[in-house]
Amino acid sequence: MNYLEEKILTDGKIINEDILKVDSFLNHQIDPKTIRETAKLIVSRFPKADKVLTIETSGIVIAYAVSELMGDIPVVFAKKSKSAINDGSNVYTAEIKSFTRNTVSTVTVDRRFISEGENILIVDDFLAEGNAALGLIDIVKQGKGNVIGMSAAIEKFFQGGHEKIEAMGIPVYCPASIKGFKDKKVIF
Ligand code: 5GP
Repeated sequence: MNYLEEKILTDGKIINEDILKVDSFLNHQIDPKTIRETAKLIVSRFPKADKVLTIETSGIVIAYAVSELMGDIPVVFAKKSKSAINDGSNVYTAEIKSFTRNTVSTVTVDRRFISEGENILIVDDFLAEGNAALGLIDIVKQGKGNVIGMSAAIEKFFQGGHEKIEAMGIPVYCPASIKGFKDKKVIF
């Protein structure tokens, strides 16, 4: 069992049959050791990329740790809120349904930060149905970049995202892969 899996067992809370709460080490309070150990596993599977792409907020800390291990490559995060600084013409956009809030939001990445032919690793905190990852993949395609892989720290395999993304020919690796929740316990 890796460090993240142990942390999930000791500190994670199952909210219902769909959602795991990890706000004591990932989504609210952050435990640097968990982030570092998780990033090491991601980089052992995907050692090289030109850039890491994630989505605010919780993906950023993992993406940053991954980038450091890859030799300080740039990290880009898709923004969820509209900015007064741009009028929409200079950004790539995707509509993403939020798993936890059940709302759809438009996320944006400035066109300057995705270049043609760039090899991009997508990183997030969770992979559930895959909507966030699919939106980010779409944004990379709009910028004519290559998605070399997708890594979320934690995946709930039973919610289908992993298979959807792999079916597109994109390798997926998540250091903590949850098969299901049984009797209020996490099953890897
Ligand atoms: P997906 O788009 O793959 O359905 O869901 C992934 C996104 O929803 C992640 O960016 C994450 O923020 C959120 N998410 C999905 N499942 C969970 C969960 O069980 N717990 C938490 N804290 N966030 C989740």
